[in-house]
Order: sequence, then C-alpha cells, then structure tokens
Amino acid sequence: MGNSPITNALTIDFEDWYQGIEIPYSDWDKYEDRIEMVGDKLLKILDDGGAKATFFMLGYVAEKHPEIVKRIEAEGHEIGTHGFSHTLIYKQEPSLFQEELTRAIGFLEDLTGKKVLGHRAPFFSITKDSLWALDILGELGIKYDSSIFPVLNYRYGIADAPRFPYTIKREKFEFVEFPISTLKLPGFTMPISGGAYFRIYPYQVTKQAIKAVNREGQPVTFYLHPWELDPDHPRIDVPRRIALTHYFNLGATERRLKKLLKDFKMAPMGEVLGIS
Ligand SMILES: [Zn+2]
Repeated sequence: MGNSPITNALTIDFEDWYQGIEIPYSDWDKYEDRIEMVGDKLLKILDDGGAKATFFMLGYVAEKHPEIVKRIEAEGHEIGTHGFSHTLIYKQEPSLFQEELTRAIGFLEDLTGKKVLGHRAPFFSITKDSLWALDILGELGIKYDSSIFPVLNYRYGIADAPRFPYTIKREKFEFVEFPISTLKLPGFTMPISGGAYFRIYPYQVTKQAIKAVNREGQPVTFYLHPWELDPDHPRIDVPRRIALTHYFNLGATERRLKKLLKDFKMAPMGEVLGIS
C-alpha cells in the first residue's frame, strides 16, 4: 500500500468501446460487443488488487447485459449510473435527459434491489450550459455526482468550479459533487484523474500528482473505462482529435492500473464520501 493515508475514489465508467467515442446511439448495433470479455478482465484485475470500485453503469449496457451488473454487485462493488445513451447532456433536452436517467436508474434498482446513489455524466458533460441537470439529479435521488471537470477543453469543463467535493443544496434535496480531479500548478490546472490522461502521462507523473492532491488533504477520484484495457478493439474512422486520445497507448493501461492499486488505497466513491 502507498504511503498516503487518504483513501481515493476508484470509479469505472462502464461502457463498451464504441459508446465512448461519440457514435450516435442509433448506430450502436453495428459494432462488435466486447464488454463481456473486457469486463471480465477488469473485474479480475480489481479482485487481484483487492480493490472495490464504483461502477457507473451505462443504461444501454446494463439492459443488454444484466448478468454483468449482477456479477459486479455480487463482487462487492458499488453500482452507480452513467445515464442511458451516452449523449452529451448539454446537447440534450432536459426532458429527455430526465426520461433516460429515470429509465437507467429504475433498471439498476430493480435488478439489484438497491438505491442508485451515484451518477457520472457521459463525457463529464455537466457544463455551464447544462447546470439544469443538477436539479434533475437531485430530484431523482442522486446523493453524489462526479461529472464536473474544473478545466476547460473542447468537450467539457467548468474552469472555475471547485476542485474538491462540495455540497449542492436546493430547497428539496442536497447531494455531494465530487469534481474530476486536477492538480493546481502555477498558471495551469492539470487534469490528473484517469482515462486518457492516465495513458498519456508516464505513470510516475500520475502517481506524484495523486500524492500531491492527497498532501492537500483531499481524495482523488480516479476513473477508467473497460475498453482502455482492450488494446485490440476495432479501429474505426472518427475525427482525429477523438481518435488521438481514444486509442493512445491502450497497451499500457493494464500494467499501470495494477501499479496504481498497489500504490494507493482506493475505494468506491460512496464509501470515500461516507454516503451509502
Ligand atoms: Zn462514458
């Protein structure tokens, strides 16, 4: 175990390779399903590393593979929601977002018999244009959300958002927002929290960055997608800026994840926040 006394949140955005790449939902049935194989690989790595995670399940995947949801739950992981169709929230009508999320949560709750408390937006797409989504999350009983990235890039981010967990409070509900983790450097906020960043930076950079945030007395939220453990998944023609990050250095993920689980104490997000 690492030398940081802080437990960090380990989260998985559970979706197949073609769902995290901006292909419309209506085209998904054209692509090869690899989630069973890669889900199996991921669960084994977590089990070997003695780590439990929050799995933010994409509703489409959960409905197609309910046995995987049951297995994840049976292995002691926490089940959250990643919405249904992986649509950028700021491109969605609030009514459709609400409808899809209600369906996704309802399916998981019926299957597991447990309340769904956690949510992560597809592509971290709660931005200044979609803050209305926070009210819908609260109304649907979400107790923690982890969707706001305090950086700005072409797809997501609220640059001046808080960097550490904080409470979002309205008249009828309150919940915790656990922002996607960053490290504050002079003149620059560095995203450090997983996904493509985990594959792009050398492992030591990620490790030192997590330690630096922990030295601020704060937990990090680390995120990963199952398809990042699948270097052989199909190469398809997508815009260059998407392809660059999606396919970059996939062969390194498995080795690095195993190191990370050795170097840091990680737990499901609900446990880290004391919400369950
Ligand atoms: Zn996703």
